[in-house]
Amino acid sequence: MPEGDVVWRTARQLHEALAGRILVRSDFRVPRYATTDLTGRRVTEAISRGKHLLTRVEGDITVHTHLKMDGSWRVSRATGYPLRDHRIRLILANETWQAVGQQLGIVEVIRTSRESTAVGHLGPDLLGPDWDAEEAVRRLSAQPDRAIGEALMDQRNLAGVGNLYKAESLFLRGLSPWRPVGTIDALPDLVELAQRLLGANKERVGQVITGNPARGEQTWVYGRAGRPCRRCGTSIRRADQGAVTEERVTFWCPHCQG
Ligand SMILES: [Zn+2]
Repeated sequence: MPEGDVVWRTARQLHEALAGRILVRSDFRVPRYATTDLTGRRVTEAISRGKHLLTRVEGDITVHTHLKMDGSWRVSRATGYPLRDHRIRLILANETWQAVGQQLGIVEVIRTSRESTAVGHLGPDLLGPDWDAEEAVRRLSAQPDRAIGEALMDQRNLAGVGNLYKAESLFLRGLSPWRPVGTIDALPDLVELAQRLLGANKERVGQVITGNPARGEQTWVYGRAGRPCRRCGTSIRRADQGAVTEERVTFWCPHCQG
């Protein structure tokens, strides 16, 4: 599941390949937009908002996409050849570059002036230019009885955290994912840590939290169920948490996060 840092990097790749150039190909492979044609229009920019991608095209048009579970955007040299992969949902290409979106969870075309209908519900974007830690804390605090592991994942509180950054931030602060938000004094510190971890990883492929980039060594608890805690040796636990969503699994050390 791509988290905010991956989406931020994807937006930058899309921006570098598409912004300022005229589309010579727009191939929507979702039924609703089968007849939509953006060729001849210039892409103005591509940005991320939390885990959402907004590709803006001249004429008050925004292509809104979301990677959800398995989606990806790949940028490569434009070939002009037909691409026949059934996972492709959208191709945007100019004379030089092509961007191919596969298994995208959301593909929709909206008015740029009405982007708020798609992303207006989001809390402060951890990697956005307008990141506002105080506002994120205010939103989290509004539901004091909610478990912190669930609250951190709610994109209406703060946008960009997924399972990995949730699990790792909570481990590093010694907080159980089930601890009610209202009992945590150090919310500002926790939010700031999540922001720093995402920021530290946004420029690189692969998410390293421990400081050790070796395979299998990058995280403290995420993806390590049944293995010994790197601090205390206790077996790392894994459980589902929160509403039934695509990404509710959480990892924690019952000793360090008691
Ligand atoms: Zn431990």
